[in-house]
Amino acid sequence: MKVLIVEDEQKTGDYLKQGLSEAGFVADLARDGVDGLHLALTGDYDLVILDVMLPRLDGWQVLREIRHQGKHLPVLFLTARDQVDDRVKGLEFGADDYLVKPFAFSELLARVRALLRRGRTSEPELFRIADLELDLLRRRVTRAGKRIDLTAKEFALLELLLRRQGEVLPRSLIASQVWDMNFDSDTNVIEVAVRRLRAKIDDDFEPKLIRTVRGMGYVLEIPEPA
Ligand code: CA
Repeated sequence: MKVLIVEDEQKTGDYLKQGLSEAGFVADLARDGVDGLHLALTGDYDLVILDVMLPRLDGWQVLREIRHQGKHLPVLFLTARDQVDDRVKGLEFGADDYLVKPFAFSELLARVRALLRRGRTSEPELFRIADLELDLLRRRVTRAGKRIDLTAKEFALLELLLRRQGEVLPRSLIASQVWDMNFDSDTNVIEVAVRRLRAKIDDDFEPKLIRTVRGMGYVLEIPEPA
């Protein structure tokens, strides 16, 4: 199980990282909101422990962006005792639980384990647009009821397009989310993958759902009638 800790206080951060490692978790530590957000979006974490008061981006902004990007991994908020309103705010923003500082490590560990047991139950399991369906749990894609076989990367690409349907997704974002790499304009790996995906989900069907927005990226949507 991989846990991301976003905490700027050095002592607390180190203490959490060490404690979680000793408890058998793989724990990464980010010391500000920008690094924390980047890791939360690109790393394959099972849970995020998120401090509220952080440099560069505060905990709210990090949480909001995590949810906005369609990530449903559990988030445990750390909030100071004099920021009690923050708890309510955190839960409204999509935090799964919160803990008031200072806390006992045993309490934190119990909350972490409970959240992981609860798992990603709030995550939608089925994505749909027109007659295209993606079943996340069974890793199945169908169009017009017909089963479509995709590679792991094609599946991840389609999942991203479906999660953000109607939004133009820049190639750089697709590169970081699907390939976990920085976008290099010399590579055509994304174009090739999109072409292959289209051949499978669009070529033999109507309407065409993947649209290229020249100079911008790709969008998955039901086209407006001409
Ligand atoms: Ca802090």
